[in-house]
Amino acid sequence: MKERFFDRPGVKPLISYLVVILVFGVIWFIMGTINLKGSERAWNNGKCPKCGEELKFDSAVGHAFSTGFVYHCENCDYVIELSGPKNKQD
Ligand SMILES: [Zn+2]
Repeated sequence: MKERFFDRPGVKPLISYLVVILVFGVIWFIMGTINLKGSERAWNNGKCPKCGEELKFDSAVGHAFSTGFVYHCENCDYVIELSGPKNKQD
């Protein structure tokens, strides 16, 4: 009788492991996409949402799985942290 692939020892734990990694990968991707969209809205093309002044780059802060880019408004001290460096679009 031919041995089936899934009946081999070690295959099932391996598949479970891969499924877990895949699920986490998908969750991470979805979270990243949501974060990026929120980030685009918060960026507001480089304008402060409070007073309309230009936002200035402040610093980059490291997180466990990402880097945050902090921008602030010199006029009213509004601060936002974005998931990536931004460039103004004309
Ligand atoms: Zn401002």
